Amino acid sequence: MLDSSCAAISPSTSQFIHPKVFFISLPIPTYSSCLPILIVMFFKKTALVGMIAISAHAAHLSWRAESVKVSNYTYTGSSTGPFNWANLQGWYQGANKVCATGKKQSPINLDSSIQTGEAPTINYPDGNAMELENIGTTLEVVNKGTASYSIVVGDRTFLFNNFHFHTPSEHRINGESFPLEMHIVNAARDPANNVVLTVLFNIGTSANAFLTSVLQNAASVTSPGSTTMTGNLNFTPIRNAFASSAARKVYEGSLTTPPCTENTQFIIATTPLTMSIAQYNTIKGIIKFNARYTQNALGQTNLLQISQPRS
Ligand SMILES: [Zn+2]
Repeated sequence: MLDSSCAAISPSTSQFIHPKVFFISLPIPTYSSCLPILIVMFFKKTALVGMIAISAHAAHLSWRAESVKVSNYTYTGSSTGPFNWANLQGWYQGANKVCATGKKQSPINLDSSIQTGEAPTINYPDGNAMELENIGTTLEVVNKGTASYSIVVGDRTFLFNNFHFHTPSEHRINGESFPLEMHIVNAARDPANNVVLTVLFNIGTSANAFLTSVLQNAASVTSPGSTTMTGNLNFTPIRNAFASSAARKVYEGSLTTPPCTENTQFIIATTPLTMSIAQYNTIKGIIKFNARYTQNALGQTNLLQISQPRS
């Protein structure tokens, strides 16, 4: 079932790499409002019916059967670490180049030069459980088509794609980092861009109700590729973090993971939420370390292009 807005995603644009596994090669602008898509493909006289899910965190389109697609990049090392992300084979060849050349890369230090912006309208209902995945680089909840969650920024609606976590935080506020950062990725097209709602967490004396709902079965997702269900999600603390009276920063940056796609707007709640030590240790114990290094200031030359010796 393909609606007209998703006409660009068709078997003719797919790369078959295995009879029952395929990756779709598309330029970024064509995908973002097409989630999820139920597609029927005939291959070797066998009808393959599958859900295509889109993760803007890893920015890939992949066949999602029983297993989770574990990320092909890491946060350490010369081969798959962030200094070589640009040379990895991404979801289509060459897509990661902007990781090393882009001048609006994220994360950044949020200083006084970063402006405040309007509050988004968040339409994430409470009370639904969703699948929590360990994709190797983070814990992630992906919209697999069961959620019609969205946000409204200005006059545009962005559909909920996924939320995931980084520890320690990727963004800094006036140089200060935080124990945990959450990204909620929302996407739209025409023109294509993402809006990433960003929440920072400090350690406090009480548990965070949203994290409690997310982590209800976290003990079942300690290994890459494993999945479980969240509890009934309670987005109230998240909605409150972006209330109209809340402090926030807004800027145009990039995804912080390959392919580092720009045209990504961050809306960052700059007053951290709190979580318990136990919640922090649960998340940190599973995802270990997954923060990309702080990028150069917006508009400045990419750090990887100025890091060569000048002799
Ligand atoms: Zn992220």
